[in-house]
Amino acid sequence: MEKVVIIGTGCAGLTAAIYAARANLAPLVLTGNMPGGLLTTTSIVENFPGFPEGIDGYELMTRLQKQAERFGAKVKFGTVESVDLSRRPFTLSVDGDPVQAETIIIATGAGHRHLGLESEHLLDKKGVTYCATCDGALPMFRNQPLVVVGGGDSACEEATYLTRFASVVYLVHRRDSLRASKIMTERTLANPKIKPVWDSAVTEVLDVQQDKVTGVRVKNLKTGAESVLDCAGLFVAIGHVPNTQLFRGVIDLDENGYIIPKQGAATNVPGVFVAGDCSDHVYRQAVTAAGMGCAAAIEAERFLAAENQ
Ligand code: NAP
Repeated sequence: MEKVVIIGTGCAGLTAAIYAARANLAPLVLTGNMPGGLLTTTSIVENFPGFPEGIDGYELMTRLQKQAERFGAKVKFGTVESVDLSRRPFTLSVDGDPVQAETIIIATGAGHRHLGLESEHLLDKKGVTYCATCDGALPMFRNQPLVVVGGGDSACEEATYLTRFASVVYLVHRRDSLRASKIMTERTLANPKIKPVWDSAVTEVLDVQQDKVTGVRVKNLKTGAESVLDCAGLFVAIGHVPNTQLFRGVIDLDENGYIIPKQGAATNVPGVFVAGDCSDHVYRQAVTAAGMGCAAAIEAERFLAAENQ
């Protein structure tokens, strides 16, 4: 029987693990299929407090895990397949094995949003990708034109990173101004290798017949005009979808699938707490996720203490 099970090892999950471990609760921390979470796929994180030179995303997550383990957190590679939250102790099925928990902290984060095109799906990993840091250096993209879709910080970060390898990076955005922060916007638009393509949507990825990306069909949303941008890769950076499917029908979710927190880190099920991007569509920062993880662990500790556990 676990006192605290934390689902997810992003900034939220691992910070919750540090706090729960330091409260002598020896939390079991389940990684899911992306240990370290989405931050492991970024390059330099420049806005996490305490790192004036920035820190590599993977390195940051490795340090958080070590810090949690130092105080007794048990980090286990495993995917939660189902949860029974109808009675306590709660039961989770983890890779086929049952795990019982007095409390649960949900820190499952969010995954990449897809454009939803059939050609995008068929050419996934054949030139279509959702992570420049993971795939940008592949030989197939070297000295080639590349396309990034999106107008937020992620799209700017991806486009800027890809200028190291690409001959040119087209930044296709559906409006005529970026949503990204001012500093990222300025940096991106000042980069001579990045060519913005405003008011436009990718309507098809070419070429399914050749089984590789050779270009994208782009529609100007103001004029309706269509054109083809030749490219060797499509990097989709249009935001995220919360990983909350497991909890649908049991934990209260909003219309976009984000968990609705009650009184801080609590949920509608007593003993189940939430932290990070799976419940935050507003801030979505590493440091806010970490703060939410801290709050969730403190709430879980108080919940158990109130039951004299
Ligand atoms: P985001 O801020 O939600 O931006 C998503 C972008 O994709 C928007 O420009 C949106 O267009 C566009 N978009 C959404 N759905 C689309 C669709 N179906 N087709 C075409 N375009 C679509 O997401 P994000 O850039 O991933 O950033 C998420 C959070 O992480 C933000 O809070 C951001 O500040 C943070 N972040 C920070 C950093 C950093 O500080 N270094 C780096 C990455 C991310 P509209 O603008 O028209 O809505």
